[in-house]
Amino acid sequence: MSEAQPRNNFIRELVAADVATGRFGRPVATRFPPEPNGYLHIGHAKSICLNFGLAQEFGGRCNLRFDDTNPFTEDMKYVEAIRHDIRWLGFEWSEERYASDYFDTLYEVAERLVRNGGAYVDSQDEEAIRENRGTVTEPGTPSPHRGRSVEENLDLLRRMKAGEFPDGAHVLRAKIDMAHPNMIMRDPLLLRIRHASHYRLGDAWCIYPLYDFAHGLSDAIEGITRSLCTLEFKDNRDIYDWLVRAAGYEHPPLQVEFARLELDYTIVSKRKLLRLVNEGHVTGWDDPRMPTIAGLRRRGVTPEAIRTFADTIGVARKPARVEMATFEHAVRNDLNMRVPRVMCVVSPLKVVLTNYPEGQVEELEASYYPHDVPLTGSRMIPFSRELWIEREDFLENPPKKFFRLTPGREVRLRYGYLITCREVVKDDRGQIIELHCTYDPTTRGGDAPDGRKVQGTIHWVSAARGIDCEVRLYDKLFTVPDPEAGGNDDDFTAYVNPESLVVVQGAKVEPSVLSDPVESRYQFERVGYFVQDATDSTPARPVFNRTVTLRDSWAKVKPQA
Ligand code: ATP
Ligand code: MG
Repeated sequence: MSEAQPRNNFIRELVAADVATGRFGRPVATRFPPEPNGYLHIGHAKSICLNFGLAQEFGGRCNLRFDDTNPFTEDMKYVEAIRHDIRWLGFEWSEERYASDYFDTLYEVAERLVRNGGAYVDSQDEEAIRENRGTVTEPGTPSPHRGRSVEENLDLLRRMKAGEFPDGAHVLRAKIDMAHPNMIMRDPLLLRIRHASHYRLGDAWCIYPLYDFAHGLSDAIEGITRSLCTLEFKDNRDIYDWLVRAAGYEHPPLQVEFARLELDYTIVSKRKLLRLVNEGHVTGWDDPRMPTIAGLRRRGVTPEAIRTFADTIGVARKPARVEMATFEHAVRNDLNMRVPRVMCVVSPLKVVLTNYPEGQVEELEASYYPHDVPLTGSRMIPFSRELWIEREDFLENPPKKFFRLTPGREVRLRYGYLITCREVVKDDRGQIIELHCTYDPTTRGGDAPDGRKVQGTIHWVSAARGIDCEVRLYDKLFTVPDPEAGGNDDDFTAYVNPESLVVVQGAKVEPSVLSDPVESRYQFERVGYFVQDATDSTPARPVFNRTVTLRDSWAKVKPQA
């Protein structure tokens, strides 16, 4: 990978110390543990870069582990999408594992816990269990079943597994302390009955482990050293430690929490992103407005930009929201150094060069890259008597400092000639239909031999050879920086930005792009960064998605927010 040394952070320091002291007696081992219940998003990318990055840097390994313990929500299609996205980001896992592969081991641990008095079968319903858990200030009330004998517990547990009971009839709980200051430690649930088909195991099981039971033990089974998770699991660390020790692991993995990525003007929660998909606010998980890896890819963002972004924001213990401008900056910087410049007129106005020979088309050589980009290459662009320019590059009555085309003014056509506007042609309603201009044949390439200066340079496309295309102008998905701020789960969809997608038909792009593969990225000069849409673009009808504008147009608006 081309990036420089990763930035330091507190987890990297912990891991470096582990290596120096040999603390775990095994090489660094991390894992990325998504639940296959949705697509990965930019928040996951932070965790991926961290986990895979540490393993790479310290010569360790990083597993991809599907945390698939909930039969209701998981699906193979998500497993496949997650694999694809991680590889696209540029990482390869040491081993692919599934929490569901550990169900036998987890069950053995459960029986062992029961036998040594560390767990019991509770027959209260889940609501009663919740109520009896107490509050932060009051201890919980022990379940009437807490004193069941080992024999009775074993019998019930085996019958739970055998499918003798309906959902909710019993649960297995760890027997810890109903007055523990950490509420999670008040006899947490380990296994519950769910008569549901699992996407991998079918009906093999009707008891399923809860997150805490599955997660730490899965880490321990895989020999993970540091189990990196986000801050909301801070209180789960006690049960994590309790379980891996109770299960008898030596040098068990240690959980370390870091602040999750929260990005302005978007949402990073699979559950909420799923709602956007299901309720039709977006066209799918890969809608280019989505903060999913699939959406960002379709938007034209590169894996390198995402990795650089992850490195820029760093890893800390303290929660902090990240401005969208920070992400866009990473995207822009990355594209600036790698994509060819081509010309596309988004909102075309016709220019007729009255002194240019009819029917003539000449090919002008145009460089793909500016001088400060260390890439070279060029293409030929056709120039003809009729051209398209951007409607907003002409004003009949310009204000001061408008240096583009106006009546009588000379401007440069990028890579082309100097032209002067002689006549504005309008329809009977006064709308401008076309401009009649003259060109100076001695200025091919854009410079006047007599050295006269023109202030404006505008982009253009030959009307004779330009290609009709669709341009999709994407903007922020939400109108407010923190759509979840209300805390009300239903609220956030009310802030979906109605202008997050503006579709422009009839834009004109230079013909060179036709020979490029789909997913090619460009800078449309003076307009923004674009990518050929992977799904909808065809040679007969190219479609371009705006990845990002050239400058941070949002920053100017922001102070009012
Ligand atoms: P979501 O709420 O989006 O479903 P999750 O944490 O439930 O997120 P998982 O698939 O369980 O999703 O997460 C896999 C890993 O990615 C976990 O280790 C989790 O901590 C990490 N992760 C998820 N969201 C973020 C985020 N916003 N920033 C950093 N890491 C994240
Ligand atoms: Mg989750």
